[in-house]
Amino acid sequence: MLGRSAAESHPRAGAGKRVAHSRLVNIEPWWWMAYRRKVASAFRTVPLYRERWALSGRTDPVVVPGRPGVHSGAIQKAEALRRLVDLVPLEGGTALVETLRGLGPALDARFSFRGTGLVVVLDKPDVLPPHDLPRGVTGCVLDLSAGPAESAWRALTVALGRAMPVLAVGADKELAALVAELPEDLAIRLDAIPKRTVDELDSGPHGLLHDSLLGYLGALRQCGRWHLDWRRVYARETDAGLAVTLLTQRSPCLVDILVGSAALGRCPRHGTPVVLP
Ligand SMILES: [Zn+2]
Repeated sequence: MLGRSAAESHPRAGAGKRVAHSRLVNIEPWWWMAYRRKVASAFRTVPLYRERWALSGRTDPVVVPGRPGVHSGAIQKAEALRRLVDLVPLEGGTALVETLRGLGPALDARFSFRGTGLVVVLDKPDVLPPHDLPRGVTGCVLDLSAGPAESAWRALTVALGRAMPVLAVGADKELAALVAELPEDLAIRLDAIPKRTVDELDSGPHGLLHDSLLGYLGALRQCGRWHLDWRRVYARETDAGLAVTLLTQRSPCLVDILVGSAALGRCPRHGTPVVLP
């Protein structure tokens, strides 16, 4: 079965070092500078942000003095989805939404696969498979409504039959339906972790923070707090809710997308940003 809490109860080489590093170093200046760079690049090169911020402005950082913008310049998710082609930088790129982006790093905060495993994401059939899982771990998307004929279903049952570590990711209802579909001797070998939106955060004990446009944004860690994947994800509070930026995704460029109502905080144990329900 899967190891629990890679960085906490079973530190691997490097993982323990990361935690200690977070305790010693204030990540805030790095986080803020990475966000500033992303805002500057979006304003220079991405049509939707060029138009929006030139006309109405934004705050923190300000790009046009005297123009604070609406919701501090943040963008509603529905508008971003409607205008995905305008979120492609001028020099080109993809407008495809990767709703499983960030899954590997989010899982890494909580699980250790010890070199091998299968991650089965319960989602719609048109979702692109995860591509950022740890080395040696394969991933697939299982559409439960397609039934046992689907190749992902066969991969899942074969892996469970061989006692490989298998982790299912999905909404609570989907995870319950999967367990109900599996033969009992296979179902007991399955590990499962639910995904939650910013508006659904609970006290766990497990969970991944997910958004249908931005992908996986973080995870509930053993400290009981919803940690952001701060190396890849920036968040700030606005009057319309939490606005999230993908720091490392070039296209579509997603900066200050409103994802729901939540506050930001700092974990007193890890010293890094957390989302507060
Ligand atoms: Zn923590």
